[in-house]
Formats: sequence, C-alpha cells, structure tokens
Amino acid sequence: MKRTHNFNPGPAVLPAPVLEQAQAEMLDYRGRGMSVLEMSHRSKEYEAINASVEARLKHLLGLGDDYRILLMQGGASTQFAVLPMNFLPADATADYLVTGVWGEKAVEEARRFGTVHVAANTEAGGFRELPASDAITLSAAPAYVHITTNETVQGVQWHALPALGTAPLVADMSSDILARPLDARAFALLYAGAQKNIGPAGVTVVAVRTKWLEEANAEIPVALRYKTFASNNSLYNTPPVFAVYMLDLVLEWIEKQGLDVVGERNAHKAQLIYDAIDASGGFYRGHAVRSARSLMNVTFRLPEEQLEKQFVAEAEAAGMVGLAGHRSIGGVRASLYNALEIASCQALAQFMADFLQRNG
Ligand SMILES: *Cc1c(COP(=O)(O)O)cnc(C)c1O
Repeated sequence: MKRTHNFNPGPAVLPAPVLEQAQAEMLDYRGRGMSVLEMSHRSKEYEAINASVEARLKHLLGLGDDYRILLMQGGASTQFAVLPMNFLPADATADYLVTGVWGEKAVEEARRFGTVHVAANTEAGGFRELPASDAITLSAAPAYVHITTNETVQGVQWHALPALGTAPLVADMSSDILARPLDARAFALLYAGAQKNIGPAGVTVVAVRTKWLEEANAEIPVALRYKTFASNNSLYNTPPVFAVYMLDLVLEWIEKQGLDVVGERNAHKAQLIYDAIDASGGFYRGHAVRSARSLMNVTFRLPEEQLEKQFVAEAEAAGMVGLAGHRSIGGVRASLYNALEIASCQALAQFMADFLQRNG
C-alpha cells in the first residue's frame, strides 16, 4: 500500500494506524456485529465512545470538571454565529482580534447579533504578523474577547498569548488544537472543527467553562444552545456518530504518544520546511514574519506565479499533494498537521532544494 505525502489543508491526513483500526472494526465493532455507522446513538456502546471522547479531550487539554466538552456539528463556520448567539447580547460588545481571513469571517457573523469591536487587525500588513501588545485596544467591558490561535490560510500562529484583559477569552483553534501542549484553562471557551488536526469532518469540538455556560442565552433555537448540548451530553439529537468514533481513535493515538512528543515532532516538521525557505537565498519567501510563523500551515511564495504553478504540479507528480495556497492568497501552503509523518516533510524539503537547483 502506498500512502501519499498529504499536505491537504483540511480535511487532512489521518494517522494510518487509526484508519487501519477503523477498517478492522468496520463490519463488526468489538463483537457487536455491526458498524458504529449502524448503531443507535442511545446504545451503551455509543455512549461509551461519547464519554471516552469527552474524557480524552479534557485530559489532553488539561481541563477539569469546571469545563464541559460539547460535540457539535456545522464546523467552525457555524460556531462563528453560535458563539455570539449564546454569549453576545444585542446591547453588548464583543472584542475580536483579526489576524487572518478566519477571524474576519468570525467578525462578520458576530455583527449580526451585537456590536463588534475589532481590538486589533493586521490586514493592512497582509496578515503576516501578530499585533504588538500596544496595537491591541480592548473595549471597556467586552462580553468576550475572541482570537484565532492559528490562521490557516495565511499561516500565522500565536505562540504566546498577549494580555487580553479579564473578559472571557474565546479561541477558534480549528487548525492547531492539540498540536502542542497549551494552557487551555486560559480560555472560557474554545472551538475547533475536527478535520484539520484531530479527526474527520463532521464533528466540532467545543470546550466551555461551566461557570460561563450559566450565562449562555437560553432563548435561541434549542439545537443551537450550548446549554442543550451540555445538559444532554451532546446527545440531544443524533450526533455524527462515525466522526465522533474516529475522533476518539485519533485522541487515543495522541494520548499514547503524549502531547509533548506530538508537539516536538510538529516543531521539527515545521523547522524542516522553514529551513528550506531560509536556505533558498530569497527564492522561497515565507509569508509570515518569523515570530508569527505557523507550525501547522507553512505559507510561501516563489518569484513568479508561473513557477508556483509548476512547483505545485511537479510536487504532485512526485507524490506530494495539497500544496496549492488558498485561492484567496495563492502561493504555496504546506499543512503539517499532527498525522503528517516527518518523512513527508523531509521529502518536501528535499523537493524544494531540488526545485531551487533547477529553477533558481
Ligand atoms: C477551516 C477553518 C475554519 C472553517 O471550518 P469549517 O469546519 O469548514 O467551518 C474556521 N477557522 C479556522 C481557523 C479554520 O482553519
């Protein structure tokens, strides 16, 4: 069996052992004579999967009983609206730090429900950097402060949190959740679509501080209330059972290695590609400034668009897929999520050196 070097931005590469286990359990899940796909979400087998995901997420995020894990649907894009529906009263203000296109989209949605104060925006500089602390201006009493920990399109990632006041802190962690050890307790709420770093598309992870949850709006549609998911263990309506099962297997895979080991490997993988950029004498130009470089999405340009097209096509012919930059900014993007092997980064770094030799 040949596995492609998969640099897809999401849905993305999954761990081979996880896919193998899912395959082995496909027709007969642990002696039950059926697939997880065919099971009632009220069965004790599925309830065990559901509870396992919750426990593993709490453990890996370092969260205790003062947090709830909610397994929702609709992706981070739906959270852009669900978050303000639950936590932004019409007469209140929420602060957003905008460091890339996903933050922009989150702002657009929040504006439908209340007032948004953009506390920082790095668009003028092309979303290459993170705002300096003196460029962050919080409003007087925000309902919450929202950041995007990793901007997937531009390849810009927060490596340490700036001072953001005392309001509840919220993060879109879709593209770097569980990529490295992180103090999740700093956040009142975090959310992430699973399909980049921790599983397949279809399930959206939310972790929320129990105390803050009490303040959530209970006057919105029942299936959009965080409280509904909390009081029903995410089983109010039919969950995406197979996606949750796959999420459980990926979390188990992370636990077995240890999050610190996964984080070190991710740092090493990114270093291989950034080294290839930095050693190219300006042929490859990284999009992000050094201090904001993402470990997950490495974005760079070549001297001409034509060369970028050629780079992506030749890489694909050499067994490396998913390298075209997002349609909004072009260039090249290598997504290096948890399940991507070091060997894939070594292959790409080697290809970059060879391509430079031939075209530089
Ligand atoms: C991919 C992504 C989204 C959108 O996720 P969907 O699951 O497609 O809605 C939002 N935010 C970030 C940071 C992302 O990487």
